[in-house]
Amino acid sequence: MNKILNRGIEVINQYRGWKTNEKIVVFESDDWGAIRTSSNEVLEELKKNGVAIDRCHYMLNDALETNQDLESLFNVLVKYKDVEGNRPQFTFNTIMANPDFQKIKESDFSTYYYKPFTDTYRPFSSENIINYWYKGISEGVMYPQFHGREHVNIKRWLTDLKNKRKDTLIGFNHEMFAISGHIVPEKRGSYLAVFDEIGHDAKLIEQIISEGLQIFEDTFEFSPKTFIAPNYVWGTMVEEVSKRYGIQSMQGGSSQILPSIQEKKQGVVKNYLGKKSKSGIGYLIRNVLFEPSSDLNKDWVNSALKQIEVSFSNNRPAIIDTHRVNYIGSLNPKNRERGLELLNDLIRRILTKWPDVKFSNSEKLAGKIYNS
Ligand SMILES: [Zn+2]
Repeated sequence: MNKILNRGIEVINQYRGWKTNEKIVVFESDDWGAIRTSSNEVLEELKKNGVAIDRCHYMLNDALETNQDLESLFNVLVKYKDVEGNRPQFTFNTIMANPDFQKIKESDFSTYYYKPFTDTYRPFSSENIINYWYKGISEGVMYPQFHGREHVNIKRWLTDLKNKRKDTLIGFNHEMFAISGHIVPEKRGSYLAVFDEIGHDAKLIEQIISEGLQIFEDTFEFSPKTFIAPNYVWGTMVEEVSKRYGIQSMQGGSSQILPSIQEKKQGVVKNYLGKKSKSGIGYLIRNVLFEPSSDLNKDWVNSALKQIEVSFSNNRPAIIDTHRVNYIGSLNPKNRERGLELLNDLIRRILTKWPDVKFSNSEKLAGKIYNS
């Protein structure tokens, strides 16, 4: 699609679709529950083997959350309340399982095994961590939704492991799969985009979604109504299966990336707030970016405030994209400190600028748009 046409669609999207006079703010935060970088030691080893770790803020900062990460984030959120007494609430888009490295190794990389994310936490830093989750939910500062069974493209990852790809094996030996595809010496597709290339494998898609949702229900004792597909990559089949298992809306940006087939790119679909797919799926569109870890020099608070202002002046809710990476401090404590400081500043200034703002979560907002 050419640029002018693209811009035309962006403009149309500002006028088309669901509108509201309420000033609604939703924080959508992906990746909770997923393992990422397992230690600073593995980063060193990857660097020695030609992986440009400094070019990816996820590699440098993102890791499975600890008690301290959750406690520090919730401590910021509980300080504030909106006009109706609701706290700013993070929609925790959760990955429900991580690879079982031991069993995968025993199978000689021929079979994929996983275990629930709650069994992945480490002792000491994450003792009884699930109780922190429950506390966050009951205090109204966090609300879990679905981000997938695992955050790994099983087919790509296992193929490279079987072929003894060096950087992938180094990661594996440190219980890590998520080495970013754009920083490795030899180019490859993303390990994180779960539905890429398998976009038409009905059986596998159904397995991934239904089993992931089952762990979600077992853990939180309710079913999620919204789903954000890993790396914004999904197709019609993912929507159809999700719908059958109780998902009502997909979270995402205005561009949905279609899964490639045998490495052939399939392009993008433009979505907007209020649109419904043939299978009856609705869409939530993120329109504010707050990702402080991705750029240490940008003025994140002011740029997010500006985007919120544009959303409100177009009678749109402000849906803020803010990944877990910004609030993790086990690899790099300064990362968490800065992320929380800026988040604190952002919430404080939102409440000052728009005293009638209403904090919500993805499921509640989707219900308002699509069930009314
Ligand atoms: Zn993700």
